[in-house]
Amino acid sequence: MRVLILGGTTEARELAALIAGEHHVITSLAGRTSAPRLPAGAVRVGGFGGPEGLARYLAEQRVDVLVDATHPFAERMSATAAAMAVPTLILRRPGWVASPGDDWQRVASVEEAAASLTRERVFLTTGRQTIHAFAGLDGCWFLARSVEPPAPPMPRRLEILLDRGPFTVDGERRLLAGHRIDVLVTKDSGGSDAKLTAARSLGVRVILIDRPPLPAAPAVPTAEAAAEWLRQLPPR
Ligand code: NAP
Repeated sequence: MRVLILGGTTEARELAALIAGEHHVITSLAGRTSAPRLPAGAVRVGGFGGPEGLARYLAEQRVDVLVDATHPFAERMSATAAAMAVPTLILRRPGWVASPGDDWQRVASVEEAAASLTRERVFLTTGRQTIHAFAGLDGCWFLARSVEPPAPPMPRRLEILLDRGPFTVDGERRLLAGHRIDVLVTKDSGGSDAKLTAARSLGVRVILIDRPPLPAAPAVPTAEAAAEWLRQLPPR
């Protein structure tokens, strides 16, 4: 089959590696990072131009199956994928679950996370596209980690840390302690939870931004389950 994976995540790369020998695989990346980790199979980069653009691309490339393996917060791309006429599977890793000792506050949006801060030292890991929401908070000090540099508007008292995972619990603990962080703000992305384990061990409060709802389409939590779902599709 000809499979288009909407990527930008570890799971998308895992799936491409798993099925590249069985199917013709194209992974699509948004093009936000300048040196992305490339998956197995073919790769294309950049937006499609909304639902019409994606529908045109699917027809041109004779794509049989679409796998939406984007980040849980890539809401627009997921909504576009769910509106396509070809069979579509969502590959979404599970969100995080609190353990004893966690001090978590769940909020519905980046704006709500910002509204719950007053004078803390904050570790922000919500991505450079969200940093503007914290711009007016002059009472707080921020350490913001992102893969690419953020753009203004940004908080006045801010240190930027350009880095990309995987991160270790020890490394995260050093970072939190070294910057005397009071609060970690993160999206409920799921996956590696090193920063949450480090926060728990240091008694650091966590503000967790809830995921947007899943579009109406079949969904699986792992690359292996996605590969199995593809195998069980009737031949095209
Ligand atoms: P978004 O807001 O849902 O997408 C905005 C637009 O970017 C889409 O409408 C689409 O443009 C284009 N786009 C997004 N993902 C694409 C893909 N895989 N291939 C081609 N075009 C894509 O998404 P986002 O939050 O900006 O995320 C962009 C990418 O970064 C995604 O691939 C996602 O997996 C990854 N990522 C996002 C986050 C996050 O927190 N949001 C974190 C880590 C990685 P057109 O309408 O023109 O097709």
